Amino acid sequence: MAQLSDDCFAFGGPMMSVDEAVGLITARVNAIADLETAALVEADGRVLARDVAAPLPLPPFTNSAVDGYAVRNADIPDSAEQALPLDGRIQAGGLAQAAIKPGHTARIFTGAPMPPGAETVFMQEDVRIDDAGRIVLPPGLKPGANVRPAGEDIPQGHIALRAGQRLRPQHIALAAAFGLTSLDVVRRIRVAVFSTGDELASPGEPRTASQLFDSNRFMLMAMLRRLGCEVSDLGILRDERTSLATGLKQVAGGHDLILTTGGVSTGEEDHVKAAVESIGSLVLWRMAIKPGRPVAMGIIDGTPLIGLPGNPVASFVTFVHVVRPTVLALAGALPEPLLPIPVRAAFTYRKKEGRREYVRVFLRKGQDDALEVTKFPREGAGLLSSLVETAGLVELGETVTGVEPGQSVGFLSYASLI
Ligand code: AMP
Ligand code: MG
Repeated sequence: MAQLSDDCFAFGGPMMSVDEAVGLITARVNAIADLETAALVEADGRVLARDVAAPLPLPPFTNSAVDGYAVRNADIPDSAEQALPLDGRIQAGGLAQAAIKPGHTARIFTGAPMPPGAETVFMQEDVRIDDAGRIVLPPGLKPGANVRPAGEDIPQGHIALRAGQRLRPQHIALAAAFGLTSLDVVRRIRVAVFSTGDELASPGEPRTASQLFDSNRFMLMAMLRRLGCEVSDLGILRDERTSLATGLKQVAGGHDLILTTGGVSTGEEDHVKAAVESIGSLVLWRMAIKPGRPVAMGIIDGTPLIGLPGNPVASFVTFVHVVRPTVLALAGALPEPLLPIPVRAAFTYRKKEGRREYVRVFLRKGQDDALEVTKFPREGAGLLSSLVETAGLVELGETVTGVEPGQSVGFLSYASLI
């Protein structure tokens, strides 16, 4: 399991910026070193454990990029069209029997290997056939046109995939193009997930009049799975120090990360802090982020714990900024910083300097077709509808004090966050 020394979160201070917090986590979390082999069909979303050097060039052989007629460069007409007799026919998957004769052209199809001696291909749309059955070539084609040289995409031996790459379909396509059937990947990060709160009931269980169904746990588990984690669903812990402590201690050894939601504020009924302190060590951050309240970081028997706030939107936003980079660091993944895309604001907003805010926004096309964003009309950090109905978050940096219509703002789509 991930081992962290107890002093590695020995930092504090009144309010920590998001960048500081992320920097501290990613610098201090030790990557899991256990590898396993994943068949290509199972490799999507996994983290590549070793560099992959191209075992063959891509494309593996020089071939035609179009359906057409192959010629030697010396036979490309200079200034007037020229008719050449046909010599040979090569289709995709076929091989030319002999070199192309000077002054001749060969019928060739997309993906077929170039016959020896041929260097350029005329597209079939650009030629005509004369009465004698000869191919009439127009003048002025660039030598080498419509040919894909061996290795033009990737030369043999080139490091084509880097260790730490989170695999997406295009990376899997590349591995398949190399003829590989599997990839070495980091084993899945094991995460234990708890909700905390006496007011919570699990879906499918009875709910009293003063309870609400636990939604965060299902949101967090879905987000973790999207990050490639193996998730243990450990249900709801009651707002009581001893049972919290027992529950957390039990899972520490078997997981790489413990994730909780709720109970990390500083009210008397927020018991996660005391529970963690009784069995491990804990730092509570007041992160300068809205929505978000304190986030707890702790260590229990060498296993890191992150305690997210209970309000669903705060939980979502702090997951993205604290849990996501932690999981990526545990998996030894290359950092994937979130890069907001500039769009035009179509709303007014005031904010405090010194903290980062995420505003839930709708995305639409303006009258001039440019992308613009409008704000969800309400602000509450408990409004699940605000996450469901909007397209993403506008990031307003620490120095920003407001937004005016027409201003450019940075937009992060929900799809880009996980
Ligand atoms: P807390 O952080 O425990 O003070 O909770 C803040 C608010 O979030 C309260 O209104 C809780 O009812 C709500 N909340 C806490 N945990 C969850 C959860 N797992 N699902 C939905 N809402 C929650
Ligand atoms: Mg609570």
